[in-house]
Amino acid sequence: MFAFVVNFQLRHDASFPYYKLVNCEERFMREALRLAREGAAGGEVPVGAVVTIGGEVVGRGWNAPIAHQDPTAHAEILAMREAALRIGNYRLESASLYCTLEPCVMCAGALVAARVSRLVFGARDLRFGGVRSKFRVADSDLLNHSVEIVEGVLAAECVELLRRFFEARRD
Ligand SMILES: [Zn+2]
Repeated sequence: MFAFVVNFQLRHDASFPYYKLVNCEERFMREALRLAREGAAGGEVPVGAVVTIGGEVVGRGWNAPIAHQDPTAHAEILAMREAALRIGNYRLESASLYCTLEPCVMCAGALVAARVSRLVFGARDLRFGGVRSKFRVADSDLLNHSVEIVEGVLAAECVELLRRFFEARRD
């Protein structure tokens, strides 16, 4: 189990100007963390996501494949669905998506399909990560849309939440 725990990693982009955006980034990441805890309470792997447009939250989701009996019910997908319904558009062109964990390949593909402008995530997922760890789907030159990616926001808290979840399941 320890091997699994260390698969979530703290990284940050040294070139990113945290001093400018850190308050706003942390605020939305805290909301994503709150959602992740909702998932954990229901026995789901704790991952949370929010979609914002113009500094306003328009979509929320937590990882819930068990509750929905749906393998695609990842936090990012649910948050994007809610956001698209809210704004009445399947494209989320000016949106930012905040997620506690690096999105998987499926979610990274959905970010590109939705033309999401920016992705902010907390911890890397070394096993399934689709934007940095295993693949780079969301800002690939091979695709027609590239998502701006920021990582490492509240990474320690995002990792800690996952670590505690798996530790508790082991007991
Ligand atoms: Zn996913």
